[in-house]
Amino acid sequence: MSVSGTFDARERVLVIGLGRSGIASCAVLRARGATVFATDEKPREALVKTIVELELNAVQFVDPAEIDRVLPQVTSCVVSPGVPLNIDLVRRVQAARISVYSEIEVAYRISKAPMVAITGTKGKTTTTALVGAMFRRAGKTTHVGGNIGNALINETFVAAAGDWVIAEVSSFQLESIRSFKPKISAIINLSPDHLDRYHSMDEYSEAKFRIFANQSATDTFVGNLDDPIIAELCTGESAKRLAARATWFAMAPHRAATIYVRDGRIIYAPPTGDPRPIEIMPVAEIPLLGAHNVANVLAALAIGLAAGLDPGALRAAVVDFVALPHRLQRVAVADGVTFVDDSKSTNPGSVVAALASFDQPIVLVAGGKSKRTDFRAMGLAIAKHAKAVVLIGEAADEIAAVIANVPTQRATSMDDAVAIARGLAVPGDVVLLSPGCASFDMFTSAEARGDAFAQAAAAKLGAHG
Ligand code: ADP
Repeated sequence: MSVSGTFDARERVLVIGLGRSGIASCAVLRARGATVFATDEKPREALVKTIVELELNAVQFVDPAEIDRVLPQVTSCVVSPGVPLNIDLVRRVQAARISVYSEIEVAYRISKAPMVAITGTKGKTTTTALVGAMFRRAGKTTHVGGNIGNALINETFVAAAGDWVIAEVSSFQLESIRSFKPKISAIINLSPDHLDRYHSMDEYSEAKFRIFANQSATDTFVGNLDDPIIAELCTGESAKRLAARATWFAMAPHRAATIYVRDGRIIYAPPTGDPRPIEIMPVAEIPLLGAHNVANVLAALAIGLAAGLDPGALRAAVVDFVALPHRLQRVAVADGVTFVDDSKSTNPGSVVAALASFDQPIVLVAGGKSKRTDFRAMGLAIAKHAKAVVLIGEAADEIAAVIANVPTQRATSMDDAVAIARGLAVPGDVVLLSPGCASFDMFTSAEARGDAFAQAAAAKLGAHG
């Protein structure tokens, strides 16, 4: 019998990609007794420290140019989430008939605990963090990992049978799963994103739909009924694709929804058994800004209820939840102007959601590196909610082209953008950084972009008292 896929002392595993996830994979595989080889195409200078650390743990670094030398010994290959599967290195491994696994697949295989897996275009991290808080509040030993920042494999490695693992997963990671089978899966929304990597919205949705591909009747799928693409799975032929029990949430009462909002209250209508709907909590108790965050809370509640958690604990977890950094986070108030950092808004859909989250007039700071997305809906939301726009980055012209009847200015740096925005705002207004684009044209990350905004806003605070 093949030992490939056991990830224990019987295996000799090659790890490709030595970022955070790859380094974690090496450590866990070593701890499980496997022989581990590691490789990465980054220039050798950038890897020196990592290689020394890996070798201290008996992981053998192999130069990509010499990979063919070790392939005859290798029984399995683990590819980190950031490594595209079509690079030559991965092709050579496949050509040698070695099975290639993604990190989340390995994490799943070694896990003793049931898993909740959450995906979507936007709101994954917020929802994942909230679900983690709910499970903890309900008394479960809970491990949160994946896209959210810490490698999933680190979490599943230490999880015991009675614990829960809560995983944030991206479409990229889902592309290469094999037997990954979460107890509860959720797709919270789907809007155009990453169309630089996927050829069409269909292809992108299909990658996301892999989250439930291996689920069976004893598992649960949580879906958003207000999202037209996901809601298609609720009826007709498409519904047959779901082997799992489906639980639906919606922002208004709907006969297929088990969680919905009615008259400002979140209602749970259990699908079977006791047919009497119960109130979970008033919407007004949600401490996060925006209707999109109400949807995130509904998704999290649906997951918690599917796991059989106490509704009182779920409500308490929501009430105590604090907005995560760079997601509609209020960072300063200067002379009556509120500065809100939504730097994690990297597609037009999240700008639309952000703009709809305030009652006050908004001066929007947007732009960055475009991902070949369509900005028209963002243009309409700007016309409806913004009093002025300050554009930065490579996509400035593309965005300017969809803005009508709203004054628009250009800025060359974040300091410049904040100064212009501050000049356009009056007391009571919001200056909102919600770029709708990636950050890499001007910043190393969305976090760095948000920090630059917060620093510039804080400087205004100093300047104006
Ligand atoms: P993700 O992990 O999917 O990128 P985050 O929770 O980190 O999601 O939020 C990223 C950005 O998307 C933030 O700007 C946030 O305000 C916005 N956002 C969060 N939830 C939603 C949603 N359900 N719909 C649209 N935008 C959202």
